[in-house]
Amino acid sequence: MTIRDAYKEGREELKLAGIPDAGLDAWYLMEYATGIGRAAYYANPDRELAKKDREKYRACLEKRKKHIPLQHITGEQEFMGLLFSVNKHVLIPRQDTEILVEEALKLADKDMIPCENGKMRILDMCTGSGCILLSMLYYIGKPANGRSLTQGESPAGKAGETALDPIAAEGIGADISEKALLTARRNADDLGIKAEFVQGDLFENVSGRFALILSNPPYIRTEEIGLLQEEVRLHDPREALDGKEDGLYFYRRIIKEAKDYLLPGGYLVFEIGYDQAEAVRNLMSESRYTDITVKKDLAGLDRIVCGRYIK
Ligand code: GLN
Repeated sequence: MTIRDAYKEGREELKLAGIPDAGLDAWYLMEYATGIGRAAYYANPDRELAKKDREKYRACLEKRKKHIPLQHITGEQEFMGLLFSVNKHVLIPRQDTEILVEEALKLADKDMIPCENGKMRILDMCTGSGCILLSMLYYIGKPANGRSLTQGESPAGKAGETALDPIAAEGIGADISEKALLTARRNADDLGIKAEFVQGDLFENVSGRFALILSNPPYIRTEEIGLLQEEVRLHDPREALDGKEDGLYFYRRIIKEAKDYLLPGGYLVFEIGYDQAEAVRNLMSESRYTDITVKKDLAGLDRIVCGRYIK
């Protein structure tokens, strides 16, 4: 079978199985299974596919047809132009979450951000794969045009060049899941980024104070989890999605507890669900946070709420 026929077969089978981006996923799986990318494909689409490559590609297609997420098949997801290992123990990094990192990088650039002993300390609460914390540490102090979002070109590889640390930033990622933290630690090692990871129920094992506390906590209402697409509902870790009855459980707790962990003038930055801006803003103002702002994602939906805690 030629690679052209193999690609078309994959695309059609995925389409029939109801996979939304069937054509794109067939490309990814073909490249993953055979090492043949688009450039090589177009150079010679009539080339024969080796038997073992065909078998591997077929096995990938069968998994994807069962709605196993592409990223669980390939074991990786790009985020902020960096490559992260992922598995069933961590939420797959979403493009929307890049907005949180972009906003936090803007805050980190401000003169009024509080530093302690010349260090800017950053906490990522509910870190999962570590994608928020590690991309912060990677890009902090670098010019914005040096970044590539997932819409961009090629990602820095796993063994990509190590970020220099022009301003001294120090990062901690916290998560309740030890298995998630194993993945986060591995990502830090692969990217050559120094970070600390602590297991615990929110702030349970976190110590010290921070200039920035960032969090993409579980925020889906329990009764709405069943309505999510199968890839999310069955394959993302439920404990990374479930924000309990009204979806706001973790915001309530983090907003209250973070006050003891923010330096005066430090910022709390949340990712939120599209309909949670007002509720989270109110919770923050009831807790005496100031300068509360809401930012939208690329689809024009509310996605980030950010506030400052003076004292
Ligand atoms: N944004 C995720 C989704 O697609 C949810 C992530 C979360 O709960 N933090 O459903």
